[in-house]
Amino acid sequence: MKKIEHIGIAVNDLEKSEELFSKLFGKSPYKREQVESESVITSFFKTGPNKIELLAATSEDSAIAKYLSKNKEGIHHIAFEVSDINKEIKRLKEEGFVILNEIPKKGADNKLVCFVHPKSANGVLIELCQEIK
Ligand code: ZN
Repeated sequence: MKKIEHIGIAVNDLEKSEELFSKLFGKSPYKREQVESESVITSFFKTGPNKIELLAATSEDSAIAKYLSKNKEGIHHIAFEVSDINKEIKRLKEEGFVILNEIPKKGADNKLVCFVHPKSANGVLIELCQEIK
């Protein structure tokens, strides 16, 4: 894994949270993007070399809606950049990690993504992401 690509934060109200994080960072998000496959709307902030992704649900069957029905708003996942996502999935499976989607899917921000179940990673939801060229 190359580096932390971004940190994902689950929020109830994207507008309100964009306002809050804009105040915190002293700047506005650089983009908003809807991910149909996940029923989420995301908003991205850059702070120096780091990226923060806010995620809000767009429907009740969204993973974010389910998460927020059981948890409070807050850090939802940590995403790591990889250069070969399929190779990394294979490696992690061999190491005993539970992969949520073995076939990478199109995520936000022009990335192929895959998730590692928090039950196999000390309670942390891990996202792997590879830039789509
Ligand atoms: Zn993410």
